[in-house]
Amino acid sequence: MPAAPTIQGSVSIDINKCKGCELCIPACPAGVLRMTPEFNAKGYHYVELFDGCTGCEMCYLICPDYVFEVYRRPQERKRSTRHSA
Ligand code: SF4
Ligand code: SF4
Repeated sequence: MPAAPTIQGSVSIDINKCKGCELCIPACPAGVLRMTPEFNAKGYHYVELFDGCTGCEMCYLICPDYVFEVYRRPQERKRSTRHSA
């Protein structure tokens, strides 16, 4: 049986909207957001995504500048505790 996917979500990041406030960094339960050393068009460090996003939407909810859009994969399995014999 193939292993369950570890990445269930993803985000798009509008880097030129980011003001580098870093609120999203500790808000991400998966710890997959980091600030880049580079600067965006406004002269701010901006956020980037690493593997492991769960699609929980915390970044979307906390960001004051609407930088994120969150995507989730379609569920590959139905949630069930029953097993066939
Ligand atoms: S909360 Fe929004 S504006 Fe602040 S660093 Fe994160 S993406 Fe950038
Ligand atoms: S959706 Fe959740 S896990 Fe994914 S980057 Fe945002 S806060 Fe982190």
